[in-house]
Amino acid sequence: MSSCYYKDFPALRALEGELGYSLPPLAYLDNAATTHKPSTVLEAVEGYYRDCNANPYRGVYRTSVASTRLYEGSRAIVADFIGAKADEIVFTRNTTEAINLVAHCFALERLRPGDEIALPISEHHSNLVVWQHVCEKTGAKLVFLHPDKNGRLRDNEMEEKIGPATKIVAIAHVSNVLGTIFPIERIVSRAHDMGAVVMLDCAQSAGHRPLDMKRLGVDFAAFSGHKMYAPMGIGVLYARTDLLESMPPYMFGGEMIDAVHERHSTFEAGPKRFEAGTPNVAGAIGLAAAIDYLTRIGFDEIESIERDLANRLIDGMRAIDSLRIYGNPYPTLDRSGVVAFGVVGAHPQDVALVLDSRNIAVRSGSHCAQPLHRRLGVEQSCRVSPCFYNTPDEIDRFLDTVEGARRTIS
Ligand code: PLP
Repeated sequence: MSSCYYKDFPALRALEGELGYSLPPLAYLDNAATTHKPSTVLEAVEGYYRDCNANPYRGVYRTSVASTRLYEGSRAIVADFIGAKADEIVFTRNTTEAINLVAHCFALERLRPGDEIALPISEHHSNLVVWQHVCEKTGAKLVFLHPDKNGRLRDNEMEEKIGPATKIVAIAHVSNVLGTIFPIERIVSRAHDMGAVVMLDCAQSAGHRPLDMKRLGVDFAAFSGHKMYAPMGIGVLYARTDLLESMPPYMFGGEMIDAVHERHSTFEAGPKRFEAGTPNVAGAIGLAAAIDYLTRIGFDEIESIERDLANRLIDGMRAIDSLRIYGNPYPTLDRSGVVAFGVVGAHPQDVALVLDSRNIAVRSGSHCAQPLHRRLGVEQSCRVSPCFYNTPDEIDRFLDTVEGARRTIS
């Protein structure tokens, strides 16, 4: 199993060995929260600010023109990465903003009392709270699907809950708690048969598996750069051209206008209509550099490393008596390496602190999924989420430490 990629990530390299004294190197296993950035991404961002920092679109001088070219070039690279067209890509700050854009510009405009929005109870708050808001404003209703104890959706429930009243199905590609890879093509087929659109939250799949919007058939999709090795503050909304063209803007100001008169204005066509104000050019360039980095490694390699790590992790966790895995406790093909768990008799924060004392970073809390945790019968959990730059040794260190965590705490 290859595990050489951590060398591309200065944050991991810098910590390695340099902490000296008794701490082992950092085992960063919180990649579902955010990922580290490879040197090529850091250099692309620094290079932009050093060599051609200028406001795009506005100037005729060379750095402004270069800035526009790099920003629009990044849009084309993102489009290519997900099998879309450049005018289907809106740059946002993150997944949350991209979903909010759809809620405000599409759902608030169209939904009426009696309409339904279907979503799994496991959704991240970013793909739940905004739909609560839409329902409050429009009189539409939320309808929840309940994954079974292995984190899977049931076919009969999908058919029962996604029906003629459903206007939107909002769902994560990969659950950030259960780790389930949901059967998106089946869901899209049912939603479209019923006349509903699908909003896919790709926050946990982008950067881990290839994304092809046309193959998935979704109408909207969202992801964050920072969870796929790019900077924080850049995200993406994919929207089908006909839908994007039919949506009014919800933020107004510079960059998104066509002409401004005293009492009314007209707006840009395409994605720029939704990008009011000076955009995050460096973020878009960083995202393009991350895509270039991932593409050079290739998703066959990335998926194969992440699958091997997930198998080692989940098999190892299942063998620990005091540990409870939430979701599927077997490393099947419809399960990612994002694993939420509890240690019997120990608070998740204490478990995370024990791991931190061995320089192993995992997340503890509700992972922005409080309704799901309530259904699981717990307030919080720990979550471990390796990615391709982690090593089998790091997984073993995690397993050894977590096995002894209860003893350490009591
Ligand atoms: N959706 C899922 C499934 C997530 O895991 C996250 C972040 O953890 C988000 C949405 C929100 O991402 P962001 O905070 O980058 O907007």
